[in-house]
Amino acid sequence: MALKIIEGCINCGNCRHVCPTDTIRYYDTPDLQHTIEPAGCIDCNLCVDACPVEVIEPDNAYVHDPEELASAKELAADVWKKRGAMIQTVLKVMRQRNARWAREREERRDDPERYRSGNRLP
Ligand code: SF4
Ligand code: SF4
Repeated sequence: MALKIIEGCINCGNCRHVCPTDTIRYYDTPDLQHTIEPAGCIDCNLCVDACPVEVIEPDNAYVHDPEELASAKELAADVWKKRGAMIQTVLKVMRQRNARWAREREERRDDPERYRSGNRLP
């Protein structure tokens, strides 16, 4: 199984910065929309934690070729050795911020007047 980006992506790029297989792209789609190239996805879920608007879901229809999956895992292990600590640090900040935004969205739902003039939340 791989993951896919569904409608509602705000193109923030967070997922791309934490993906250990560099399999999230945007530059090769006509509208520069982020997409996951499923062959390189190892289903690690790091991008899910990074996404502020919860638009990354399982792509149950995708079945990996065992060799491509093995090669993606090998790449991930290599990237993790080189950039794992940095990815973890970035993810920690993203998780905290996403949790804060989720709380603020809830508050906004409770009190729509509060954020009437602001448009800073996704
Ligand atoms: S699940 Fe992991 S490998 Fe797949 S796109 Fe997300 S971060 Fe990349
Ligand atoms: S983190 Fe979410 S909103 Fe941001 S580019 Fe990735 S899928 Fe889109």
